[in-house]
Amino acid sequence: MITATAYATPAAGAPFTRTTIERRDVGPADVLIDIAYTGICHSDIHTARGDWGPVPYPLVPGHEIAGTVAAVGAEVSKHRVGDRVGVGCFVDSCRVCDNCRAGEEQYCVQGMVNTYGGTDKEGQPTVGGYSTRIVVDEDYVLRIPEGVGLDVAAPLLCAGTTLYSPLRHWGAGPGVKVAVVGLGGLGHMGVKLAAAMGAEVTVLSQSLKKQEDALRLGAHHYAATSDEGTFERLASSFDLVVSTVSATVDLDAHLGLLRLNGTLVNVGAPEESLSVSPFSLFTNRRSLAGSSIGGTRQTQEMLDFCAEHGLGAEVEVIRGDEIDAAWERVVASDVRYRFVIDIDSLRD
Ligand code: NAP
Ligand code: ZN
Ligand code: ZN
Repeated sequence: MITATAYATPAAGAPFTRTTIERRDVGPADVLIDIAYTGICHSDIHTARGDWGPVPYPLVPGHEIAGTVAAVGAEVSKHRVGDRVGVGCFVDSCRVCDNCRAGEEQYCVQGMVNTYGGTDKEGQPTVGGYSTRIVVDEDYVLRIPEGVGLDVAAPLLCAGTTLYSPLRHWGAGPGVKVAVVGLGGLGHMGVKLAAAMGAEVTVLSQSLKKQEDALRLGAHHYAATSDEGTFERLASSFDLVVSTVSATVDLDAHLGLLRLNGTLVNVGAPEESLSVSPFSLFTNRRSLAGSSIGGTRQTQEMLDFCAEHGLGAEVEVIRGDEIDAAWERVVASDVRYRFVIDIDSLRD
């Protein structure tokens, strides 16, 4: 058994405590990773606070993991000791369904095994990346290309792939008008990626506070949703609107932004159901869609795309004992634009 130092939350809303966890021994197909940085995703907070259902406490969150391979099992062929690697939101899936075979394991018909708060095939609870080490099957480990720092790479494993996947699926590129709603961890990666793909990018944020940042990140236009008249002014003007809002959104208002055949992709995951009027969809033959993270195939493609275009997340690096304060700032939409835990601070 391998041990690791971790930060766990013992109950909904309770502060994190430093603890020791156990990892399984490195099996023939496994990779042992020394974690360098782990991003803080808003999903960590939703999960830990019970927004999405019962939680197996104590919970060690973390599914934006970047580090270095420390050991490999006898049958591992994809990774070597010393390689720079990442792990995202899942660590296993059935491998045989059509979706798994297509590298879209996030849509595994039997359900993916979540990186934390899940149950692995041996029936053991999965434990996330707010920790010093993790053991993962080699097929669920991604390569982080040279040139992308591990700190700015970590958030790509969830935030990056969650935006890259719908942007690719719905054809973001030259001549396509894309709006990104909410400039947080996901949203800021959406801006960088859509701009790098050649799309015309607009940011819709609650206020004007993030305008300068948005333009610096690559957005061409910016509007505050709190300004009266914004939704009217921008009505029927986008091909693709991606909402990353972590709270309840007015789908009808956002659908109104779509031009003919446009699609609103909602990736935000608030606690409550969202409602929609059929008439919002009739106009301009609009579509409403969702999208879940990205599979291994597209996540690797996204990492390579980021290396090619010199992209990474904008990060604020914190220590393990600063997680509680960072979570409060995420909830207050006061993150610019992803908190990343320096896992070395757990090794002190
Ligand atoms: P985040 O960093 O907190 O960003 C969310 C942004 O939403 C905020 O920065 C804010 O942007 C906006 N926002 C927050 N509250 C709002 C409100 N009441 N009204 C309007 N806008 C509001 O969170 P994140 O990590 O990017 O995650 C965003 C959401 O996506 C979460 O619900 C998360 O669970 C979900 N998620 C989904 C997937 C998926 O696969 N579909 C993957 C990862 C995360 P402004 O300040 O610019 O307004
Ligand atoms: Zn996430
Ligand atoms: Zn499957």
